[in-house]
Amino acid sequence: MIRIGGMVPMSSLDFPGRLSAVLFLQGCPWRCGYCHNPHLLPARAPGAIGFDQVLEFLDRRRGLLDAVVFSGGEPTAQPRLHEAVAEVKRRGFLAALHTGGMYPRQLQRLLPLLDWVGLDIKAPWHRYDAITRCPGSAARVEASLQLLLRSGVHYECRTTWAPELFPPRELHALVAQLRVAGVRNWSLQQLRHGGGAIAADCEAPAFDVPDPVRLAAGFEQFQLRPAAP
Ligand code: SF4
Repeated sequence: MIRIGGMVPMSSLDFPGRLSAVLFLQGCPWRCGYCHNPHLLPARAPGAIGFDQVLEFLDRRRGLLDAVVFSGGEPTAQPRLHEAVAEVKRRGFLAALHTGGMYPRQLQRLLPLLDWVGLDIKAPWHRYDAITRCPGSAARVEASLQLLLRSGVHYECRTTWAPELFPPRELHALVAQLRVAGVRNWSLQQLRHGGGAIAADCEAPAFDVPDPVRLAAGFEQFQLRPAAP
């Protein structure tokens, strides 16, 4: 049904306030230089675990796990994701999605089933294609963001940042965009070094964010997340 590149059986971090199993779905059309999951990028790579096995695992964890998080790669790249999410919900689990927002139509179809969404906002819109290495990526994410905000589904927008991705002053431009769009919940997480082409050239610096008080103003929830050591 869906190709799953890996699973974390229990996490308290990937769906805030819930204990979740996290499924890492195979395939992503973007090529961010800092991607930490390059083995998940090829869409046609064989899965590491079958969805039937996941369902058997979930049946054994009833009452111990609250939710299943569909992560990736890019989960919405898989055409049968909707069926997989529906099956998880039928079994009584909550469902969450981590997405880059690149398939707004797929997201629109999924939203009525979802209990929480973590949406990556990678950069100010004019910087998007340079980061994703895919033309037209910003318009897709803008559409997904609007669908998510209109849906009423609980969410977090999050941005992974280091100065080598875009300059500190543009963080404030990004915040202005988020506020105009109506985002109320945003986290800024430090680029974790050690993953991709960008990371290979860099030491792990302190998370030096320009004027965090100003960045946080206007959000109902705001978090700064330094990279794990
Ligand atoms: S969108 Fe995510 S999974 Fe895809 S290349 Fe970028 S960082 Fe990797």
